[in-house]
Amino acid sequence: MTFNSMNLDEFHDVWVFAEQRQGELMPAVLELISEGRKLADELHCELHAILPGHDVDALAEKLGGYGADKVLIYDHELLKDYRTETYTEVIAQAVEAYKPEILLFVASNIGRDLAPRCAARLHTGLCADCTHLDVDLGGYIDFLRKESSVDVDNTNFESKMFDVEKNLKMTRPAFGGHLMATIVCPRFRPAMATVRPGVMKLREYSAEKAAAVKVEKPAFRLDESDVQTDIIEIVKSSRKQVDLIGADVIVSVGQGIAKDVEKGLALATELADELGGVLGATRAVIDNGWLSADHQVGQTGKTVRPKIYIALGISGAIQHKSGMQDSECIIAVNKAENAPIFEIADYGIVGDLFDVTPKLIEEIRKAKQ
Ligand code: FAD
Repeated sequence: MTFNSMNLDEFHDVWVFAEQRQGELMPAVLELISEGRKLADELHCELHAILPGHDVDALAEKLGGYGADKVLIYDHELLKDYRTETYTEVIAQAVEAYKPEILLFVASNIGRDLAPRCAARLHTGLCADCTHLDVDLGGYIDFLRKESSVDVDNTNFESKMFDVEKNLKMTRPAFGGHLMATIVCPRFRPAMATVRPGVMKLREYSAEKAAAVKVEKPAFRLDESDVQTDIIEIVKSSRKQVDLIGADVIVSVGQGIAKDVEKGLALATELADELGGVLGATRAVIDNGWLSADHQVGQTGKTVRPKIYIALGISGAIQHKSGMQDSECIIAVNKAENAPIFEIADYGIVGDLFDVTPKLIEEIRKAKQ
């Protein structure tokens, strides 16, 4: 039977693209597996990871441990390194053969390249850069109640066009982060989404689930004629990128350091070192060329949820807040007492960061003695 993305009843199960590089899973894949598990439970179906690569069998257990029921391994020498055309070919063949209802990718550079290509090939819809996913309508309404200004009690969630209870509701920032949009893909399958790293909560690893994971190696067709690009060399960035997503403590700087950038960065670095943390920044800091882009927190940077987030000289624009407001404890230093960052801060210090930061460092050192 030919593949028709409009035959909705033929599609079942939730899939996650298990992105690996040089045989290592991207950490955000495990967040996505955790979220995929939730969606599969809501749909009463299975969660499968699709894993293209070469000699990657060892990764299946880990995917199982975080919630995958089955791992579909597509092993081929031509899949050792990522190439848009070979990965698209294999994913398209897999989707056409198995017909998953939902297909999720991490919004990494690879995911952002691959997912739209697959969506176009399969003639279905893709919602990019999601920060929240629901199938269950009750769960979605709870999310709106907590995170939005929608008057949910006076809103009619029914639709004559599609089944609101069963469709994946994909939420992402829109209009520069000034509002959140929820998007559905009612007429085509699979419903596809890329999801930002760092936003989905990691489940606890289960050794039992890891041991029970099913592994399947489906037949597929791939040969040199599918390859239009040559990989001549893989050059890894020599500069180590800052690990904002894995950090427990982040000290971020904003334009408030402008009057002495060098000193402001040195103070923030000293404070971060004292707390075993890393340095984050607003987009303004990156745009000014004061720090590299991997430090950026926010809507177009990284989404973080550390134990402690210290904001030094940051106004608290919505695009910045959307990337850090789920931090466990937010401490803000700003000389303007009406700065919006104070609305979400657990502790707010009104003052000049150049006076306050050295005092914080001193107090932390004293407390450590
Ligand atoms: P400002 O808004 O200029 O704030 C500086 C703050 O420092 C002020 O509140 C001031 O009172 C305080 N200050 C000044 N001097 C001192 C001092 N000596 N001591 C203490 N406080 C002091 N921004 C992001 O951060 N991340 C994003 O991902 C992002 N994405 C965006 C996407 C889009 C589509 C758009 C349109 C914008 C985006 N922005 C993003 C930009 C965002 O709108 C703000 O412009 C930016 O966050 C402001 O950065 P800031 O707080 O450093 O600077």
